[in-house]
Amino acid sequence: MSTTTRPATLTDEFLDGLVARVPGSSGATWKLTEVYTGEVLVELPQSTEEDIERAFHEARAAQRLWAQWPLKKRLEIFERAHTLLLDNALTTTDLIQAESGKNRRMAVEETCDPPMIISHYLKRAPKLLTPKKHGGPVPFLSSSTEVHVPKGVVGIIAPWNFPFATGLSDAIPALIAGNAVVVKPDNKTALSPLYGISLLEEAGLPEGLFQVVCGEGPDVGPTLIDNADYVMFTGSTATGRVIGERAGRNLIGCCLELGGKNPMIVLDDVNADEWVESATFGVFGNTGQICMHIERIYLPERRYDELRDALVERASTLSIGASYDFGPEIGSLVSPDHRDRVASHVEDAVAKGATVLTGGRARPDLGPAFFEPTVLEGVTKDMLAGRTETFGPVVGLYRYRTVDEAIKLANDTDYGLNASVWSGDIARAEAVAERIESGNVNINDALATAYASKATPSGGVKNSGVGARHGDQGLLKYTDVKNVAVLKKQVLGARPGQDYDAYVQQMLHSLKLMRRLRVR
Ligand code: NAD
Repeated sequence: MSTTTRPATLTDEFLDGLVARVPGSSGATWKLTEVYTGEVLVELPQSTEEDIERAFHEARAAQRLWAQWPLKKRLEIFERAHTLLLDNALTTTDLIQAESGKNRRMAVEETCDPPMIISHYLKRAPKLLTPKKHGGPVPFLSSSTEVHVPKGVVGIIAPWNFPFATGLSDAIPALIAGNAVVVKPDNKTALSPLYGISLLEEAGLPEGLFQVVCGEGPDVGPTLIDNADYVMFTGSTATGRVIGERAGRNLIGCCLELGGKNPMIVLDDVNADEWVESATFGVFGNTGQICMHIERIYLPERRYDELRDALVERASTLSIGASYDFGPEIGSLVSPDHRDRVASHVEDAVAKGATVLTGGRARPDLGPAFFEPTVLEGVTKDMLAGRTETFGPVVGLYRYRTVDEAIKLANDTDYGLNASVWSGDIARAEAVAERIESGNVNINDALATAYASKATPSGGVKNSGVGARHGDQGLLKYTDVKNVAVLKKQVLGARPGQDYDAYVQQMLHSLKLMRRLRVR
């Protein structure tokens, strides 16, 4: 049974309580709407420059105390937060669905990301943040210790497609490392991150340490970047360039997680049944609004018709609808504007000669922003859908004759975020993966395996980004390294009165000796 009625959890009192912490001294608000109906859910305060500066001031004061907490005590908070986030996952799911329009299956999966991040860094952070002693230049008499110091206040700018995950999961390692965070969610999707932060505070996170400011990106972004000690950005490549330029001028570090035009190469020994389910999710999951989702599929000539027909059949039978239960396999796009953008890519492709094999239409009968799962054939690079990110439930199918040709076509893009390779022979797929220019390659999966592997850094190459989240660098990027070096006896340099030629000979000889003895 389908339930389009708004969940009982989302009362006005609950939603007003969530947005009450967003500073908005000018009184200006943004009408945050329920995507399925277009009805206003809550008036979201919009932060002024002064509000943002105050948020940083408060965050900085809280951070000074937080950084002095022993790591063990900081981690205890995240241990509790892990439980609280999971215990309240269904309320989070209600919020994510209402503000983004995604289907419930995807929304509940999104709620698992911050707990997975917490679980990984609870194990890993003690190792990463404990000072490491190294040998110094003079054996036995010198040493150097690598100390990781928090940057200070990290600014996070998050998109709407995974608002809870990108709002929280990138903040967690920053906080664990001893930083404060000021996050700017997308106006459309500020509710779920606000709720997540309230749960972290319920778990014991000190007040003031995790601030939220809201507003349109170009209004809020500059002040946020100018006050931050590091910027973590997830969003489009165009915005990423603007953020990177400003961070560069301020000489602060940034991590940019950007868009993709992700290819999937299917080798001729693939198991079609396994492939079609995963490919369907890879293309249409989250209504195609996953940065790592697949927009280009390269099929071997020999099996092209069979695999094309299997995907088209599956796509055309996907259940799509506005519902707060686990029924629909596909939900809405995030907004009517975005639906128009997706539709424009399909119209442009058709006008230039592509064929729609299934889908291709908006579905106003289901809600204001629905668009059908769409499979295209005959897409070329002069079409929008052939070269730029569509970010919707649309995929182009291409045939190839040789694996070399498939790899060349897959790499023929400015992006390099994710790729997928399918084969019955893992070694064969790995050999292809090695030649693909991409920050992530999933073998016999579309995208989830790489993203959920929290121990390995995940980022984009080419125009898909700078830096990475997850893995050791996903936490260490939020720290500066202090090199504390100790010399127990002053033996460096020539001794007073020593002949300098003799000193130089002795120094060169020592370096050779140390190399031979493998001391340095
Ligand atoms: P977007 O770049 O328009 O917006 C992202 C965020 O940046 C929003 O909070 C927005 O308000 C803010 N913003 C916009 N202009 C700004 C400016 N001038 N200064 C500061 N902030 C500004 O992107 P979007 O359309 O919201 O998100 C979809 C994009 O995000 C897609 O391209 C998708 O591939 C990408 N994405 C990438 C990843 C990744 O991990 N690589 C993950 C999710 C989404």
